[in-house]
Amino acid sequence: MSEKVAIVTGGSRGIGRACALELARAGYDIAINYAGNSEAAEKTVADIKALGVDAAAYKFDVSNKEQVDKGISEILEKFGRIDVLVNNAGITRDGLFMRMSAENWDAVINTNLSSAFYVSQPVVKVMMRQRSGAIVNMSSVVGVSGNVGQANYSAAKAGLIGLTKTLAKELGSRGIRVNAVAPGFINTDMTKDLDTSKFLDFISLKRLGEVEDIAKAVKFLAVDTDYVTGQVLEVDGGLII
Ligand code: NAP
Repeated sequence: MSEKVAIVTGGSRGIGRACALELARAGYDIAINYAGNSEAAEKTVADIKALGVDAAAYKFDVSNKEQVDKGISEILEKFGRIDVLVNNAGITRDGLFMRMSAENWDAVINTNLSSAFYVSQPVVKVMMRQRSGAIVNMSSVVGVSGNVGQANYSAAKAGLIGLTKTLAKELGSRGIRVNAVAPGFINTDMTKDLDTSKFLDFISLKRLGEVEDIAKAVKFLAVDTDYVTGQVLEVDGGLII
């Protein structure tokens, strides 16, 4: 068993899976959470274990406080401590503001923003006892700049930035750092149906991001730095400068 433990929500696929693998390469035991795709979650757990650390997958809905409390206590029971939390799970339900249903508003706010409140609270309790820990919240460039058709998602991702800065202020004296990553357009299932070619003109590096680009930034904030907190690191190839 390694000494340090990381939780990655939405760790079965995409950016979360890459973050879980990157933290495993840094020697962390890994608990991934997912919503329903057990096949992807099992594959990710197997790939993490192949790196020589312990791993397990936990199926719970991050937008449901009761399920989160149960899931986090099961993780704690198995792993005994929590050093890094990556609040990564997220969804989109795009549509123009005037046509957006309350259902799509609530689903996106609850899954992308309220989830970070639900998951962080029991995790911070553990980190406060340990007097150390690092949290990375997965925001988005659209949380900084807004985006047509994404009022719900932009609001949730902007909310995560406010949560990040506030927790950094509240928890710094307890040895807990809290930062956010704001990805641009990254190649994952979430973006596979978008016509991303039209964005290339605006991306300085002239390519979409890969999940590893985000995972490296997450590992930097969670593991490599000791004196960075309350920051939002835009990892977008120069989309917003
Ligand atoms: P993805 O490929 O669609 O993967 C989403 C992950 O979240 C999956 O592991 C999924 O689990 C999990 N998930 C979804 N709803 C959940 C719920 N209610 N409870 C628990 N887990 C849930 O997405 P991605 O592109 O990797 O995005 C990851 C994060 O980065 C999201 O927060 C997203 O908003 C953010 N982001 C992405 C981009 C981009 O361009 N891709 C840009 C900026 C920010 P299952 O596998 O079980 O479905």
